[in-house]
Amino acid sequence: MRVDVVSIFPGYLAALDLSLVGKARQSGLLDLRVHDLRDWTTDRHRTVDDTPFGGGAGMVMRPDVWGTALDSILSAAPDDAAVAPGGEPAPGGAHLIVPTPSGEVFTQRHAEALATEDHLVVACGRYEGIDARVAEHYRAAGVAVSELSIGDYVLNGGEVAALVMIEAVARLIPGMVGNPASLVEESHGAAGLLEYPVYTKPPAWAGLEIPEVLLSGHHARIERWRRDRALERTAERRPDMVAALDVTALDKHDLAQLRELGWVVEDGRLVRR
Ligand code: SAM
Repeated sequence: MRVDVVSIFPGYLAALDLSLVGKARQSGLLDLRVHDLRDWTTDRHRTVDDTPFGGGAGMVMRPDVWGTALDSILSAAPDDAAVAPGGEPAPGGAHLIVPTPSGEVFTQRHAEALATEDHLVVACGRYEGIDARVAEHYRAAGVAVSELSIGDYVLNGGEVAALVMIEAVARLIPGMVGNPASLVEESHGAAGLLEYPVYTKPPAWAGLEIPEVLLSGHHARIERWRRDRALERTAERRPDMVAALDVTALDKHDLAQLRELGWVVEDGRLVRR
């Protein structure tokens, strides 16, 4: 996969040299390129922003600068060694991600879908954000554009959001995580649950012992215990996720456990008693 990130603070993205993402870059699994938006400015001051039409506080990022930068990057094939300046956007090619607190909230489902793409381009805004015509223009040109928020709060810039999304997507690329089985039962996976609590050695620590069943070696009992804890934890912390569960995918033990937790099936949906 190729990922291009455009920012006025490219140094912010240095964290992508570390850990699994850094290793994936070194091994060639991930071709990640970070660009300074100011490289596409033409004035002496390398200006990327201006005052908002209609007045108001703050500055807005100029569409012309973003347009020149994105035309150049979007027109590059995923495995191009160099980016040709001034090219036309290639419809059906790259997927443009615009982090914004006014976007759809980024979830594991977005990460899974984006992990199947060949080329992602992330446009990191600053100030009051990027002129709205940028997303509109590329959408109209046939580019897949996703305006995504990493949560209901406001950051100073899109760089941290880019780090979050790139890490969530990159770990799903085949070959990225050493043991792919570790991805299967994770929180927010296909089961729609939070993960059960996990423990390691020593078996007793700070006066706390690990649940007996985990030492039993009895796989079916361990599996059931983990499933019950996952249901319990999800009901306690994320009732919205329990309400969204597909009832037909639950077995009679799941339903009994949920009943104990105060959830019953009504008209084919789980509701709290
Ligand atoms: N004026 C904008 C608003 O109220 O929606 C907020 C702009 S914010 C100060 C500057 C930039 O930070 C945004 O363009 C975006 O790139 C990034 N940003 C801030 N919060 C974000 C969030 N929750 N998710 C994704 N990006 C965010």
